[in-house]
Amino acid sequence: MNPHQRAREYAEIAEGLLESNDQWDRMRALALSLLAVYHVVKPMMCRECGCTDLYPCFDELGDPCSWVEPELCSKCAEKAKVVYPPKG
Ligand SMILES: [Zn+2]
Ligand SMILES: [Zn+2]
Repeated sequence: MNPHQRAREYAEIAEGLLESNDQWDRMRALALSLLAVYHVVKPMMCRECGCTDLYPCFDELGDPCSWVEPELCSKCAEKAKVVYPPKG
């Protein structure tokens, strides 16, 4: 399921809960709406080490990593090269 579909699902549940007279349901609705927003705007995270733009990892020189490709940071790309040299 892509993040936008998931966000819409949360938003739909939230809408239902908002109708409720129970204050906890309305709290849940609020939480679900936040979750919906988060799924759409969440920052990119490295699939190897989990670093983000806000919390990058650092190389030996103390420089923060950058994005080599979506969801792969420069440090992990470097590491991958060492561990799995390309064939041929
Ligand atoms: Zn990484
Ligand atoms: Zn990194």
